Amino acid sequence: MAKRDYYEILEINRTATEVEIKKAYRSLAVKFHPDKNPDDPHAEERFKECAEAYSVLSDPQKRAAYDRFGHSATGAGAGFDPGFGNIEDIFDMFGFGDMFGSRGRRRSTVQRGSDLRYDLEITLEEAAEGKDEKLRIPRLETCDECDGSGAESGTEPENCVTCGGSGQTTYQQGFFSVMRTCPNCAGKGRIIRTPCKECRGQGRIEKEKSLEIKIPAGVETGSRLRVGGEGEAGANGGPSGDLYVVIHVKEHETFERQGANLYSAVPVTFAQAALGADISVKTLDGEEELNVPAGTQTGTVFRIKSKGMPMLDGRGRGDLFVAVTLVTPKSLTKEQRKLLEQLAEIEDTDFNDESFMDKVRNIFS
Ligand SMILES: [Zn+2]
Ligand SMILES: [Zn+2]
Repeated sequence: MAKRDYYEILEINRTATEVEIKKAYRSLAVKFHPDKNPDDPHAEERFKECAEAYSVLSDPQKRAAYDRFGHSATGAGAGFDPGFGNIEDIFDMFGFGDMFGSRGRRRSTVQRGSDLRYDLEITLEEAAEGKDEKLRIPRLETCDECDGSGAESGTEPENCVTCGGSGQTTYQQGFFSVMRTCPNCAGKGRIIRTPCKECRGQGRIEKEKSLEIKIPAGVETGSRLRVGGEGEAGANGGPSGDLYVVIHVKEHETFERQGANLYSAVPVTFAQAALGADISVKTLDGEEELNVPAGTQTGTVFRIKSKGMPMLDGRGRGDLFVAVTLVTPKSLTKEQRKLLEQLAEIEDTDFNDESFMDKVRNIFS
C-alpha cells in the first residue's frame, strides 16, 4: 500500500512552521480521536497516521531527511510503529488530554486507589480447614457527601485557568518544550472554591470497612489472597485498588510444617520400642493409632498417609511423618527398678556389631 505524504496527512503545506504543524496535528487528533468516533473504523487508522506524520515532521532532523528522501528516509516501511504504547500515551506526551470532553479531562487527574495490605494471623488448624474471616479494614473511601468531587454539594470544581485543566504548563526553552506541573492547581487540573466539609476537599474519607473473606484450606505463611476492588477508593472517579490479605500461620506446638507435609515427634518407652506397641498419635483430625513394631530404634520415622495439610489446589493432602523418640525414665518406682535390675543382669551388652558402630561414627563425624 502506497504511503501518503506526511504533509498531505496533516493538511499543511511544505513550508509550515513548527507551530503550524503542532496546531494541525492537534486539531486532526481531536477530529479522529477514537473516543469521538466509536462508529468509524477508519478514525483510528487516520489517527495513527496523523501521529506518525507528526512524529516525523515535528522533529527538525527527521523532517529535513523526509523532505529530501521521502518515506525511505524515516526507515518506515509498511508497518511503521510510531513507538507509542497506545493512544493515551500520545496525549500524555503533549499534555492535552483535556481537550476530549469529560473522559479526556479526567484522564490527567484520575487515579487508581492504592492497593492495601492486610496481615492476618491464623492457626495451623484454620489453615488446614479454611475459614471465613471477618476483617475490619481502615481505608479511604469515596466521600458520599460530594460523591468524590471534593466540592461542597451544589458547587462544582472549576477548570484551572492557568493550565486549562491539564494540570501541566508548557514553556519554551530553546528548542524544547518543557512541561511542568501547574503551580496554580498543583497538577490537579481543577480548583475547588468551596471544599466539601465532610472530606475537606479530598473527595475521599477514611472509614473502617468490614469485609468477609474466605480463606481456602491449604494456605501457608506468605500466601496472598487478592480481593479485587477492596483497596482504597480512586481519586476523582478512578477505580479502587485491590486488597491483599497476607497470611501468617502461627507455629504449632505439635506439628512442624513443610509444604503440605507435617512432622511431629512421639515419645515411646523402652518396653514399647522393644516389644512393639500400638501407640496413640496426634493428628490434625484427632488421635490416630500407630503400630510401632518390635525392635524400633529411636528416631525411626513413620509415615501416616494423607494426614498432612490439604493442597491449595484441592488435590488431596500431604502426609504426616512421625518420629519415634525413646524416652528414658527419670525416676523409677521400686518395682520398676527391681525389674530393670533383673533385666540388666541378663541383657546383652555386646554392641560391637558393625551397623551400630557405623551409627556411632556418624554421630561424631
Ligand atoms: Zn466530600
Ligand atoms: Zn492548573
